[in-house]
Order: sequence, then structure tokens, then C-alpha cells
Amino acid sequence: MKYESTRGSVKGISFKDAVIMGLASDGGLLLPETIPFVGGKLADWESLSYQSLAFEIMSLYIDDIDSEALKEIITRSYATFDHKAVTPLRRLEDIHLLELFHGPTLAFKDVALQFLGNVLEHILKERGTTVNILGATSGDTGSAAIAGIRGKDNINIYIMFPEGKTSPAQELQMTSILDDNVHNIAIEGSFDDCQQLMKAVFSDLEFKEKYNLAAVNSVNWTRVLAQIVYYFSAYYQMGSPDKFDVCVPTGNFGNVFSAYIAKKMGLPIRRLIIATNENDILTQFFNTGVYQRGDVNFTHSPAMDIQVASNFERYLYYKYDKDSEKLSEFIDQFLQTGKAEIELNTKQFDDSIVAASVSNKETIETIRRIKKDLDYVVDPHTAVGLCIANRKKEPGIPMLSLSTAHPAKFDDVLALADIEATHPTLEALKGLPTRKQVMATDVDGIKSLIES
Ligand SMILES: *Cc1c(COP(=O)(O)O)cnc(C)c1O
Repeated sequence: MKYESTRGSVKGISFKDAVIMGLASDGGLLLPETIPFVGGKLADWESLSYQSLAFEIMSLYIDDIDSEALKEIITRSYATFDHKAVTPLRRLEDIHLLELFHGPTLAFKDVALQFLGNVLEHILKERGTTVNILGATSGDTGSAAIAGIRGKDNINIYIMFPEGKTSPAQELQMTSILDDNVHNIAIEGSFDDCQQLMKAVFSDLEFKEKYNLAAVNSVNWTRVLAQIVYYFSAYYQMGSPDKFDVCVPTGNFGNVFSAYIAKKMGLPIRRLIIATNENDILTQFFNTGVYQRGDVNFTHSPAMDIQVASNFERYLYYKYDKDSEKLSEFIDQFLQTGKAEIELNTKQFDDSIVAASVSNKETIETIRRIKKDLDYVVDPHTAVGLCIANRKKEPGIPMLSLSTAHPAKFDDVLALADIEATHPTLEALKGLPTRKQVMATDVDGIKSLIES
């Protein structure tokens, strides 16, 4: 399989090069040149383990890593999960809930980042090169990236987070990791400042090249790929229904984009239901065709407090029938004016996508109701999904909803619903030695840290 950029100037690159490139060098996002259709052989994979299913799906997209090596990487990546099924399915009344939080940092990002860390290490060993990963996080991404990269050869990771503005549990999940290749940087500023710093360092192309700077945010195709697997796994765990709906709580369009690819591959997904919090730029778009940036609202589901969804460009690329020029026009207009519009006619548009948003109040009510009625505790991101799944479900069509984090990660929000949640992994972190460097919002400071 070869990869191409949504902006049209990068074509024909290998999987390994796509992993290393991350963001395409023409500013676009990388995608496989074709999406393999597997609709005819779904029954063949029915009784496979998660790992074997992952191998079947991933090897359709990866043809430059030897099969045995790929199998071993997959096995190692999911050995860190605490459930045999990796992503087990649970029944909540008439909704099927896929628990994606059984990895080391208790959030769905582990499914992709455990795999990405091992794939990166494999490629770098082969090539005899080193990379420096620089990331900015408000919480979940940083800890999952660190858990995926810690202790790996030829990779250093630098994670910036706003000092004092992540939850205590999230900070501990990062700063208690003492491996030599892990650098936690607490920035005296906001999450926005961290993102600006990251952009500033990456835009110094000479520096970027000299230190092989890389990113592991959700623009990396490997993350999308690893997430496709659990939609297939869920389908089999649901008993291979003729068709089903999927509801995904999202901010960056990352998780839901994987479902979109799974559907293109022939998984019988009828509707993709996008659940956003009060940051509803995606919901607005799917209901009106207008994509318009607003101010970020801070909500009870902070991992979805995003205004500009980085993976959305991949989706638009298909909507524009892979016309990079038209896509670039849309993106340019959005970047210049903060607003762009697409014609809502069915030829260009997608009636299989439904989008709705959830208020903070509804989020808390959903958490409370599920605890009271079903004696099950969900995290606020999962609650956003379940709220919309309940609103949009239709008789006779199974509804799959995704659970993206363990509730104990967001115990401060649960306290607002008078619910306590703990997890042994988080309890075990309390009192451990920690390490972080507190730094000012200063580009040169970050650069000299990486240099040293
Ligand atoms: C990152 C994250 C999300 C949103 O993921 P997208 O890639 O925006 O779909 C949802 N829930 C949790 C807990 C997360 O960490």
C-alpha cells in the first residue's frame, strides 16, 4: 500500500515513510491510495482474537514490515491491556458500549499509541536513526504518548502541559514516568501557549530537520489505522448484525474517522453518529454545511474541548472526490477567515452522518441516570456519547456507543454527580516520585532543552 497527501503534492510513499512523516510535507494529511474492501470476507474473521484481527486488517495497509515482525509488534502492543478482549463490549439496556479504556493510561488513545510507539521503534532501529517527539497536551494525549514511548530506543519524548492546569491524576500519569527518554515540561501558561510553542518549534524547519522532530498527534495515519480494528471487533462481539449504528464522542474527528474508514472497508455501519460537547463546530457543520471557528468552551469533557478538528481534512478529501485543489480552497478559506462552507447537496454530501451536541448539564444528568438505573459508572466523554446514542437510536437497529476513558480519570467531574470512582492504576501512582521541569513560555528555552 502506498500513501498520498490530501493536498496532492506527496504521492507513492511507503507505510514506513508515512509513519515517520506524520503530517505530510505539503501541509496535508496522509491517506492510503485505496481503501481495501473486505465486505465479502467478514465471516472469515469472526472467531479471531483481537490481535489476529488487528493483524488481518493492518496488513492490508502495511506491506513493508515483515509479517512475523508485525505480529510480534501487535502482540506486544496489546499485552499491556488488562482485559483479554482488549476492547470488551458491555450491554447497557439496549445500547452496546465498547470499553476502550483497558490500556495503561485508561483512555482510548492507548489503543493507537501503544502500537505507534512499537512501530516507530521498529522503523528507527532498522534505519539507525533517532527522533525527538514534541507534543502539547491538556491531559490524555500526553500520558498515552508517554506510555507508548517510555523506555524505547532511539526516541526521546518531550511533552508540554500547562503548569497547574491538568488534573492531579493526569499530571501524575505523566510525571511519575522516570525513564531517561521522557521529558515532562510544565509550561507557565495555558494549553494554548503550549500549542503555540509547539507550532513555533516545528516551523523552524532547520531545527526540525537537524533534530528529527516528530509528532504523535492524531494526524499520524498509524493512529487512525489502529482504531479501525476495534470497530470490527465490536461488530463481531455484537454477533455480526446485518447493520448497526455507531455513536462516537469526538472533538478531533479522529476516532470517528476510523469508523468512517471501517464503513468504507465494508463493515455494515448504517449511520455514524457524532456526539460533541458544547464545542460543536462539527455538529454545526453536519447540520448546516458551515464550518466556523468559535472560542473554546471549557467543558466537563475536556479531551473534546477542541474547535478545529485536525482529522476533518481527511474526511473532506473523500467528500471532494479526492480533488486536492477544491479541498485546499476550503481549507485556505477557513484558515484565512475562520469560516468555510460546503454545498449541502447529496451528491457531495453524506446522509449517513448524524451529529448532535450535549451540554454540561446533560453530561452530568447522563452520568447520574446510568449510575442510578444500571449501577454502572461512565466518564464524562462516554456520557456525551451515550446521551446522543439514546436520543438517536432507532428500533431494530443495534446501537454501538464508545466508552473512551475510565471514569476514575475524571473523578472531579464525577464528584459533581455525587459519584466516586477509583482505579487501582491511579491509586498506585499516589506518592510515587515524580519529575518535571517548569519552564517559561519561551521557544528558545524549549529548543535548548532539546539540543542538550
Ligand atoms: C482524545 C479523547 C476523545 C476525543 O477523541 P477524538 O480523536 O477527538 O475523537 C474523547 N474522549 C477521551 C477520553 C479522549 O481522551
